[in-house]
Amino acid sequence: MNDVIKITQDLIRCPSVTPKDEGAQELLAALLSDAGFECHHLPFGEGEERVPNLFARIGASGPHICYAGHTDVVPPGDESKWTYGPFNPEIKDGILYGRGASDMKGSVAAFAAGAIAHVNKNGAPENGSISLLITGDEEGVAINGTAKVLEWMDENGHIPDVSIVGEPSNPDQLGDELKIGRRGSLTCVVEVRGRQGHVAYPERADNPMPRLARVAAALSDYEFDTGNAYFPPTNLEITSIDVGNPTENVIPNAGTIHFNIRFNDIWDSDGLVAKLHEIIAGLSDDYQLDTRCGAVSFLTQPGAWSDVVSSAVEEITGRKPELSTKGGTSDARFIQAYSPVVEFGPINNSIHQIDEHAKVEDLENLTVIYERIIELYLAQ
Ligand SMILES: [Zn+2]
Repeated sequence: MNDVIKITQDLIRCPSVTPKDEGAQELLAALLSDAGFECHHLPFGEGEERVPNLFARIGASGPHICYAGHTDVVPPGDESKWTYGPFNPEIKDGILYGRGASDMKGSVAAFAAGAIAHVNKNGAPENGSISLLITGDEEGVAINGTAKVLEWMDENGHIPDVSIVGEPSNPDQLGDELKIGRRGSLTCVVEVRGRQGHVAYPERADNPMPRLARVAAALSDYEFDTGNAYFPPTNLEITSIDVGNPTENVIPNAGTIHFNIRFNDIWDSDGLVAKLHEIIAGLSDDYQLDTRCGAVSFLTQPGAWSDVVSSAVEEITGRKPELSTKGGTSDARFIQAYSPVVEFGPINNSIHQIDEHAKVEDLENLTVIYERIIELYLAQ
């Protein structure tokens, strides 16, 4: 059996700080090729922006289950603060330490080991396919990673019927949460304008500051919705209010409010932008609103696919995972446009930290869970 811990350790030894790979995907491709997977190396981007990606598939027909993950990691920070060093995977008291142990080389190793175990027991699937979509660009700008691989998969007949992202989804224990969607993110800046002038001659100026304050209050107070069964309410947070006025006797020309909205599936970004214009235009004639949608919101309706994953998790851990949409964005935001996608992976309490770690037992159980998911899904 391919040992999940050995694979994780081998991957951690590759210092694949985004967007570097340092042999991580080559190592994975070698393992998968040996088990009969057809591997495609799919680098996208030029020069400094070149990102390594790997797509591996076994089986030619549907139903097709795809695992998505990344082999890049965030920088280690001050390496001298690590107990064993970030790229020196050590096990102490049943805990494996190293950058990527949880986010998410341990997860990638668990799925690879689980899928290989399934193939070793059952042979290559005759009716069905198993694939892995591995990017080196998840922790970076995410331009030349999953989004581009999906386009390639679409052009080459590799779009899966269901997908699972192996990001660390569990807050404390394996089996806590199964993510079935994510909120969207809209980053905005509004400039409220007036006319500059001398504080002693306010009739010749138009001070935008009171309007700026009213706009800030109105944005912050607005109740977009009250949430629904799977999502918390849409929330707007002001991150900065700036005037940049160094003087005490000049009425400023304009001021800006920076804010971010995390929105549920009741809204899309166009609808939100229209609502923002309505709120702001009601208080200020002269303004400019700029927005950037970092992620759309999505929900994979609970049903056949989430049931398969949920029952495999419950079988192995004895815990029924809560269906959740909490947390930041992941590459599931790209995958949701092509197939139903859920997220289940390691514990996230040490990710991006010094001494990132994962319990050996959890990675072993995760391997069995992924193998069971494959088994249950392909048996349908
Ligand atoms: Zn991650």
